[in-house]
Amino acid sequence: MPTDPDLSRSFAQALDAQNPLAELHDRFVTDDATVYLAGNRLGRLSKATADRLAEMVHDEWGHHLARAWPAWTDRLHSVSDALGRDVLEVGPGQVTLGDSTTVNLFKLASAAIALRPGRGVLLVEQDAFATDRYVLQSLAQQHGLQLRTIDSHPDTGLDTDTVRAAVGPDVALGCFSHVAYRSGAVADMPAITELLHDAGALALWDLSHAAGSVRTPLAQSAADLAVGCTYKYLNSGPGAPAFMYVRSELVGAVQQPIWGWFSQRPDAAPTGYQPVGNVHGLLSGTPNILGITAVEQGVRLIAEAGIEQLTQIGRLLTGYAIKLTDDLLAPLGWRVASPRNAVRRGAHLTIQHQDAWQIHQALLARGVIAGFHGPQRLRLGMAPLYTSFEDVWVAVEQIAEVTSSGAYRHFPADGAPAE
Ligand SMILES: *Cc1c(COP(=O)(O)O)cnc(C)c1O
Repeated sequence: MPTDPDLSRSFAQALDAQNPLAELHDRFVTDDATVYLAGNRLGRLSKATADRLAEMVHDEWGHHLARAWPAWTDRLHSVSDALGRDVLEVGPGQVTLGDSTTVNLFKLASAAIALRPGRGVLLVEQDAFATDRYVLQSLAQQHGLQLRTIDSHPDTGLDTDTVRAAVGPDVALGCFSHVAYRSGAVADMPAITELLHDAGALALWDLSHAAGSVRTPLAQSAADLAVGCTYKYLNSGPGAPAFMYVRSELVGAVQQPIWGWFSQRPDAAPTGYQPVGNVHGLLSGTPNILGITAVEQGVRLIAEAGIEQLTQIGRLLTGYAIKLTDDLLAPLGWRVASPRNAVRRGAHLTIQHQDAWQIHQALLARGVIAGFHGPQRLRLGMAPLYTSFEDVWVAVEQIAEVTSSGAYRHFPADGAPAE
């Protein structure tokens, strides 16, 4: 390692000593054999969540059984509002939880199409996460609409002027990610939402890589609709239920396409579907209460840290990773692919190297868990709740060692996923 003191491990430790979130790090289950930089793919398990889920399984499911339903339904409502308040910074009655992000995207995009009859175009970005493109493609096909794909760059994300050029009176809906899954680039939600509104279209935001890692200006933007995962930065476990957000003015108007008993008005005759007139009318069947119980714990930790503070620490972590990449990895053929402007990036940093796929495999074998993305990119997910500066230092040191030694060449060069 070079002699610059700022590049030393002890400097990383000094940064941790000043990190106000460091006291939360040991609330999570960890092990010494891994360096975890994949919280943007699956968040860590918190100790409180593990305890609470065990208690729920034994006491609530094991003993209360069906008698627990009133309490479980109350929990769905209160956790939805808590997620709105503490993660999305929106008022009550605008968030619900259930199913996956993919299903929720389908529901809200369907509802948006129904609210804009006669408009023939849906907008999506070129570099959208595959599921977002597929959902809009299938809806366009089913409704006989045109899917207009807007150029977006794998490194710099969605450019507001490019959206401006594509929006017109024929557009029903624009669906975009707030934080791009590949580069972490942050789209200008207020400006893009305004462009859509000026054209009479609706804005649907995918917050999967944003929720719990950065502030999301939904209220300030008057964004209409949003969806996002809870198993990434909200640490609620694999397959935990996704959320839906609907701006309060639209809550009474949205109609989702999968009618089911769970969103039926309790006093309605069983022969005809009449949804409850609140945001939970977006649900269809029974939501996963174990998952919602985990979301409750995840949201509590976000609230304790504060979303503003998480945003700031995320920027410091990614900024530190940029400095280490420039000084230690650039001479080895790596380059920073994410935006360098801190306010334009989320909490993960993407770096590129021609042999990234082999290096990724070599890192995994050493217990350094990051993420690979084509083309030739390694994603370093820094979850501000539990990632330390020292984690970042150790990961970069390992990347440097694997790259410079050529030890990764034993791993197969083919088989890299395209996305
Ligand atoms: C992770 C992610 C999803 C995940 O969708 P699931 O239905 O939960 O599998 C969707 N969209 C984006 C942008 C994501 O990053």
